[in-house]
Amino acid sequence: MFKLFKVGRFKIYANFSFVIGFLFFAYAIINFFAIKLSFYPKYLAYTLGFVTTAFLYLSIVLHELGHSIVAVKNGVPVKKITLFILGAMAHLEKIPENPKTELKIAVAGPLVNFAIALVLLPFVKYLSMPYWLWFTLFYLMFLNVLLGAFNLLPAFPMDGGRIFKSIIWIITKNEIRASKIAVLISRAIALAFIVLAIIDWKTWLWFGFIALFIIFAGNSEMTVIKLKSKLMKKKAKDVMTPIDKTSIEDEKLFFDTETDLWTIFSKMQTKKIFFAYIKNKNNQVVGYITFYRLIKDG
Ligand SMILES: [Zn+2]
Repeated sequence: MFKLFKVGRFKIYANFSFVIGFLFFAYAIINFFAIKLSFYPKYLAYTLGFVTTAFLYLSIVLHELGHSIVAVKNGVPVKKITLFILGAMAHLEKIPENPKTELKIAVAGPLVNFAIALVLLPFVKYLSMPYWLWFTLFYLMFLNVLLGAFNLLPAFPMDGGRIFKSIIWIITKNEIRASKIAVLISRAIALAFIVLAIIDWKTWLWFGFIALFIIFAGNSEMTVIKLKSKLMKKKAKDVMTPIDKTSIEDEKLFFDTETDLWTIFSKMQTKKIFFAYIKNKNNQVVGYITFYRLIKDG
């Protein structure tokens, strides 16, 4: 993992697999440009292909910044943005607590790509320019429409998966049910990709690869949601280790005996504190809870 640059408060990192992804797309796009612009000198087609790949990745970063800015505005801190083989990801420090926040954050990414395409549209449609420039702008517009549309696919970890989940969550008012339905749809889409990749691997191999990520992301969504449903049912007083200390030094986190475990879990995760004291109604410390305990047998 290495740091690329910083935009405002957001740090952009790249995973080593990103280099493979970048080279793969650069190779494909440069070859495509060489064919489509074969009547120009080769160096021009190659340069334009490379520049387009760079702009494609810039669009991907802008997409993640869209998620990140909306997340921060809605009280969800963003740790960093990382580029990897399949694109990029904004790391949210906590799971949005309500479906409307989750929906807004998820929609913001694809909207950025559609906005970029919209900005390019008048250039492509109305301005006269050399063909090579027109083709480059047109292709960049096309790639952004594709990026936005592909991310709307209703499967985790794509934004469409989050959008789909949050809409069902709004309708049913039940997050656990919404997650289960969204994961089911994700798995169906992954299965379809795998079948297509087996039937015609030349066209669908990349999608077979994406299917693995979809299955993986669906499983991790299920793990989190199962933990959440378990923790929400219990209260601090149910699992705390009792203590009879009255004065506490270097105190950091305090919760009421009636607080549900999911709230405690989320706060600990956001504040990166792995230990919390539990107080009773008279403001006396009566016990403590560790992060390990919450994960283990919450
Ligand atoms: Zn996204």
